[in-house]
Amino acid sequence: MNPAESASGQTLDSMLKKKMPALGIDLGGTKLSAAVVSDFKVISEPRTVPTPHGADNIVSAIVDLIKSFQNEHVLAGAGIATAGVVDPTTGNILGSTGNLPGWEGTPLKTLIESRTMLPIQVDNDANAAAYGDTLAMRMEDKECVIGVTLGTGIGTGIIMRGKVYRGAHLAAAEGGHMRISLGNQRFCTCGLFDCWEEYGSGRGLVATTKELLPGVTSAQSELANHVEFLTTRMITAAADNGDIIAQKGMNIWHQHLAAGIASLAHILDPECFIISGGLSSVVDFELLREMVIDRCMPRYAESVQILHSELGIYAGIIGAAHEVLTHISKPPAA
Ligand SMILES: [Zn+2]
Repeated sequence: MNPAESASGQTLDSMLKKKMPALGIDLGGTKLSAAVVSDFKVISEPRTVPTPHGADNIVSAIVDLIKSFQNEHVLAGAGIATAGVVDPTTGNILGSTGNLPGWEGTPLKTLIESRTMLPIQVDNDANAAAYGDTLAMRMEDKECVIGVTLGTGIGTGIIMRGKVYRGAHLAAAEGGHMRISLGNQRFCTCGLFDCWEEYGSGRGLVATTKELLPGVTSAQSELANHVEFLTTRMITAAADNGDIIAQKGMNIWHQHLAAGIASLAHILDPECFIISGGLSSVVDFELLREMVIDRCMPRYAESVQILHSELGIYAGIIGAAHEVLTHISKPPAA
């Protein structure tokens, strides 16, 4: 064995790099955020800029963000979590949604590496969040862990024995676009109707609560004055204040969440679900668990576990940073 090589085959250089911090970058339709990550913690002030229009401008904004951190930190690499379908080997964007027009076809890894000279790893944002949560919660040896990111949409990632499950065409785990209703009631950003994320996301909570408001007076619900500009924050705050309509909206939203989770449980039989994202803080985990159990066959109901992410809103950033750290600590191919 080479003296610079450990028993596991890792070189001293790769082990040292894994101990260094990495930058995690989360690219969404409205904002681009980044922070320095060490172990499973954000160790710098996060920086956020609005997502520019067009692939060239987004690439330039990512390069500028990386360089601004490189001035202050010695980084092992940068991991990028982006919306869309990603080939993690090449770092190319294979598919994109309406949130990032023109993003498809971008050779992101190559473009960023050539302008920063840093190792770059790219993944789908929900995959990165699920990967980060699985490692942070020491579940990399589990058969199957499903990450569910609740925000304006729903992202899902499937981690099997510590690795992201990618499917036959690198597009697995778009759980947010499972159809959960018939009748073409809610149009989704993907171009289809009645996807899970149109019910179980923040957008879904707003739509569901709006449907309860016709005929409701402002004396009955404080939300009646805000029908046109209703937000998730208004609804959750009103529910906390005892507003019956807001509480009903929240209850139906939990039922919608439970419907999707129960479907995923029947298909994949995971050890657990980990719920992350901005909206995870308003989930009533006990209520959700009861609703999922009600919707599962006994074998699944007995074992279903639903946990709150320990990484919270930083799951994508921390997961992306760990993807690049894992990649550079691998022994080189023989
Ligand atoms: Zn959809």
